[in-house]
Amino acid sequence: MKATGDLQLLKRINRSVLLRLIRSQPDISRARLAAVSGLTKSTVSALVRELLDEHWLSEAAAPVATQGMGRPSTPLNFDTTKRVLVGIEIAVDCLRLVCVSLGGVILTQTEEPLLDQSPANACKQVGKLVRVLCRQLDEKKLILSGVGVCLPGAVDGALGLVRLAPNLGWRNLPFMAMLATEFAKLGIPAAEIHLQNDADAAALGEYEFGGSGDDSLIFINCDIGVGAGIVLNDRLFTGFLGAAGEVGHSILQVDGPLCSCGRKGCAEVFIGARALGSKQGVVKGGQYLGVLLQNLDAMFNPHVIVVGGRSCIDHPSLIDAARTNQQAYARVAGLQSPEVRAARFGVQAAAVGAAALVLHQFLRPLLKEANHVSGN
Ligand SMILES: [Zn+2]
Repeated sequence: MKATGDLQLLKRINRSVLLRLIRSQPDISRARLAAVSGLTKSTVSALVRELLDEHWLSEAAAPVATQGMGRPSTPLNFDTTKRVLVGIEIAVDCLRLVCVSLGGVILTQTEEPLLDQSPANACKQVGKLVRVLCRQLDEKKLILSGVGVCLPGAVDGALGLVRLAPNLGWRNLPFMAMLATEFAKLGIPAAEIHLQNDADAAALGEYEFGGSGDDSLIFINCDIGVGAGIVLNDRLFTGFLGAAGEVGHSILQVDGPLCSCGRKGCAEVFIGARALGSKQGVVKGGQYLGVLLQNLDAMFNPHVIVVGGRSCIDHPSLIDAARTNQQAYARVAGLQSPEVRAARFGVQAAAVGAAALVLHQFLRPLLKEANHVSGN
């Protein structure tokens, strides 16, 4: 890498360090930022100026007196009024688009049927939605920080590839490049585009915008299929080929009912939406979801497990039943249960997660560098 490249990366890292400190410590002063980050006061001052000019940050109109003998300081915060993150979920039958503030507040949301599952047409439909949104952003003088896209399949986020999305019929597709070409054709302003699996995105949405920054966190998406997103040590754990978290096809019963994947006894045949058609099915689904929670706790011992997806909206008793079952398993072994809660953003969980992906990557410049290196 050239020296200038090193310097630019260093600058991006320093900016992200400051942004993360400011997010975790609202109203922090420049002096405190320098003390906590280890950067010099002049470096902090210059970078904060840039971040203010680019509307990542806002500062109080007047200095505030500090406790003790120190000089008055100006509190710094994330500017949640100027920049927006756009998240798009390509589901099997619909497109969901959300526009989210840097603070995780949904500003606008759109949903429409996916007209055609072919990748080229899906690209066009996404492009049209984003173009309409960009015009609205222009009118409101809001700045587009980036676009995150998620879909139900195994994805290589660093390379922008869809490895396999069986329910869309997509395989080994350079979807991020296709979207970039479509956006350019439509005159959409150049913005970073990120791609991720839907459950992985939903996990990031809960992690970035859930309020408590719980590490580690697992998001289980319960729909026709059942998948999980896993956040460990401040990053997504996506596995060797991007297929980690396919918990719907973990086997819960030897020689059980036949699953769509060809195996028998997968979690999906007990917890997937098709199994929840009757009251009895929901009761059984709650029991097996409890088993799945127990297995995930045994494997990852997460701080929080978030359960979301269409099935949780259609069957609100599902989470309570699963939690009760998991707690019973933990009690027998004398162990503490993880917190099990419903998705904060409901049906928009994946779309908001796709928006969170933009912020997550921006705040971790090394993550993308590392991904690119490992992806080559
Ligand atoms: Zn299966």
